[in-house]
Amino acid sequence: MAHRFDAIVIGTGQSGPSLARRLTEAGRKVAVIERKRFGGTCVNNGCIPTKSLIASARAAHVARRAADFGVVIEGPVRVDMKAVKARKDAIVRVSNEGVEEGLRENPGITVHVGHARFTGPKRVEVDGAVLEAEQIFINVGGRADVPLIPGIEVVPYLTNSSIMAVDFLPEHLVILGGSYIGLEFGQMYRRFGSEVTVIQRNPHLIPREDEDVSSAIREILEGEGIRILTDAAVTRVAERGGKVAVSVTAGGKAMEVTGSHLLVATGRRPNTDDLGLEAAGIETDERGFIKVDGQLRTNVPGIFAMGDCNGRGAFTHTSYNDFEIIAANLFEGEERRVEDRIITYGLFIDPPLGRAGMTEKDVRRKGIRALVAKMPMEDVGRAYERSETQGFMKIIVDAGSRQILGAALLGIEGDEIVQGLLDMMYAKAPYDVIQRAMHIHPTVYEMIPYMFEDLQPLE
Ligand SMILES: Cc1cc2nc3c(=O)[nH]c(=O)nc-3n(C[C@H](O)[C@H](O)[C@H](O)COP(=O)(O)OP(=O)(O)OC[C@H]3O[C@@H](n4cnc5c(N)ncnc54)[C@H](O)[C@@H]3O)c2cc1C
Repeated sequence: MAHRFDAIVIGTGQSGPSLARRLTEAGRKVAVIERKRFGGTCVNNGCIPTKSLIASARAAHVARRAADFGVVIEGPVRVDMKAVKARKDAIVRVSNEGVEEGLRENPGITVHVGHARFTGPKRVEVDGAVLEAEQIFINVGGRADVPLIPGIEVVPYLTNSSIMAVDFLPEHLVILGGSYIGLEFGQMYRRFGSEVTVIQRNPHLIPREDEDVSSAIREILEGEGIRILTDAAVTRVAERGGKVAVSVTAGGKAMEVTGSHLLVATGRRPNTDDLGLEAAGIETDERGFIKVDGQLRTNVPGIFAMGDCNGRGAFTHTSYNDFEIIAANLFEGEERRVEDRIITYGLFIDPPLGRAGMTEKDVRRKGIRALVAKMPMEDVGRAYERSETQGFMKIIVDAGSRQILGAALLGIEGDEIVQGLLDMMYAKAPYDVIQRAMHIHPTVYEMIPYMFEDLQPLE
């Protein structure tokens, strides 16, 4: 016999639990299904654990630089990897348990643990139970996409999930992938004390970014002793004497990189292949992402897809924003759309990159008449006082409207201060507003008005 609900939420990622709560506030009877760990990727294998580990790695880094600040540490700095992992686990546990408790304690929600599969447009099966509802919200996220490299099926490798169990120091971590995940783990493990090699297929790290940003990031990481191979195709992986040998062709030259451990960070794929979508008639694209419109509706009435599985974003904030859009449209009578949001993200290496809006190459591609300002972090007093002057800030504005089109802030606090610019972009305010405001001294942000004094035409 089928159990009837008003709504079913599949997956407890970054939008499902919030939407479930909002549905109950509207008096709906909701079923929530989670197959593994409550809170999904961000909480268990993504943002929260990596940023906790990055904090430990930064502490080690600052301790090693203690003498630069006149601080004396007697003896070498040693990292206790078991303690690092225990700290990370404790932080993760708070969020993981918080999500689960929040769902279980809500009288309007019935929690099911198990793998959900559609067996019809309005029907889902989980652990032998049949659930039916008029509205179904899919929030199943994604997982590491492991490329079909010859040898990968027999070589032990780590992903962003399995590396969470590591409580020892890999002697030499070889990382496939030079984008966000690979670079954050790369710098982190280098700072813990591992030798690190990053192998990137593209000619540039973080290929979405402008070349000046990607080159500066490379310089920062190489400055810490990370070996980076770009334009590098991996042709085979093999186990050799307890080590992992990676055959690479980089810049036309064949070589072999041998490490103690291999981390695959080459991309993510949606968890949609075993969801029974065909039984419900839900369409996906050729990569498995569920097709949605700007209001996150699938092709089947009453079924929505939120978060990484819809291919419209790949971040916690995009998933949460999906919840906000759906909730506003369903309950507040609004007409919010994914197209209205401005792209933004952080790359949490140290110093971080904060990105908002268009890159320089986006602006050029669109042929927008624009002005650009750039300032090295060496010119920022706050960075100088902290002896952390790596990176630069770049802001692009529309030459006509004087509105900000995009910003890349690679430097201390770049991930925080870029959000002030982001809000200006949402407000569609001209940059003059920032120039006329009074800012706190000494901060990074106080330099932003001066950048606008030096805007140059983007040739
Ligand atoms: C290493 C790493 C670092 C990251 N760092 C950041 C960061 O700093 N900032 C940021 O914004 N983003 C970051 N991200 C991305 C971010 O984690 C994801 O974008 C975010 O978690 C997406 O959430 P989601 O809502 O799509 O679902 P997810 O968080 O992926 O959760 C999906 C949930 O659905 C469950 N599920 C899947 N299939 C089924 C099924 N059939 N039945 C029942 N349950 C199912 C899963 O078990 C999971 O709990 C990072 C990702 C990684 C891997």
